[in-house]
Amino acid sequence: MGKTTVTSALLDWYDVHARDMPWRVMPADRKAGVRPDPYAVWLSEVMLQQTTVAAVRDYHRKFTAIWPTVADLAAAEDADVMAAWAGLGYYARARNLLKCARVVLADHGGVFPQTYDELITLPGIGPYTAAAISAIAFDQPSTVLDGNVERVMARLYDDHTPLPAAKPVFMTYAERHTSQNRPGDYAQAVMDLGATICTPKNPACGICPVRPACDAQSAGTQTTLPKKTPKKPKPTRHGTAYIARRADGAWLLETRPDKGLLGGMLGWPTTEWGDDPAPAAPCDAPWDTLNEPARHTFTHFHLILTVQTAWLPQDAAPARGNFVAAADFAPSALPTVMQKAYTLAAATLRQV
Ligand code: SF4
Repeated sequence: MGKTTVTSALLDWYDVHARDMPWRVMPADRKAGVRPDPYAVWLSEVMLQQTTVAAVRDYHRKFTAIWPTVADLAAAEDADVMAAWAGLGYYARARNLLKCARVVLADHGGVFPQTYDELITLPGIGPYTAAAISAIAFDQPSTVLDGNVERVMARLYDDHTPLPAAKPVFMTYAERHTSQNRPGDYAQAVMDLGATICTPKNPACGICPVRPACDAQSAGTQTTLPKKTPKKPKPTRHGTAYIARRADGAWLLETRPDKGLLGGMLGWPTTEWGDDPAPAAPCDAPWDTLNEPARHTFTHFHLILTVQTAWLPQDAAPARGNFVAAADFAPSALPTVMQKAYTLAAATLRQV
């Protein structure tokens, strides 16, 4: 088996082993003429940026139940979308999701454009996502290159060039195999192969449909690929979260500024996050410091968040934030780091 048969081998494998996903049209249905809903595909691809399929399934179901069309999403309240996104992380994606929905409605009459060149002009859609949507939703012969595909290409060609420098080379490999007849199925097939068979640690070469064409498998180097240029260690930042309840049980919450990390998300008032940030309590109170901080890792740094709690009098007038009645407060609407701080503080601030 030479490399020329990789595409057909992958498509044959996908016909049998395609994973069922809420936004996916399975290969048999696709052959029967069923077309994917571009809105569902776009939503899945934005959600899948930096997140696994397992984590995305429920969020995708929730979003399409609340907002079944791009027009529904475009008309949504920002705060409702941010709350529904809470827990998926990388909140800039949620803000761009809304922006994109509104641009699709305003500039494209609520119909997603089909080509890579048009899709990439939309907010929150980069080269990978534009390629994925144009291939999966519209069967355009775009080449997708995500982490899964990079791994498959590095191994197929036994290429030891380290990432990220290797990306353009891996793209030329991937382009060679992109199907002209079934580009949508092919894009999903190669990504599925990387996610389920050609996995990072223990690739299942014994059942791999492209094994006869795989140079790394022949050389025995597959588990060492792809090579990666070592990353710099992440720095650690510090901060304090102030979690307060008023005498009637209401919680003091703050919507974070639109720009910056967790922008537009609801959270506890905090200090800046840095080496040794100045205290920034929202009001004078007998703040109590919990023994255990909340720990969270963002893309570029680790955060150690000291948690301070306080009960406030009914007439408290904090300089920041707004009180949210206990009945209206849902910890699940908070981003993960704020949920962690809440979990630590909940016992201290329980109403008796
Ligand atoms: S043979 Fe093994 S290393 Fe090669 S593509 Fe298949 S799973 Fe990956």
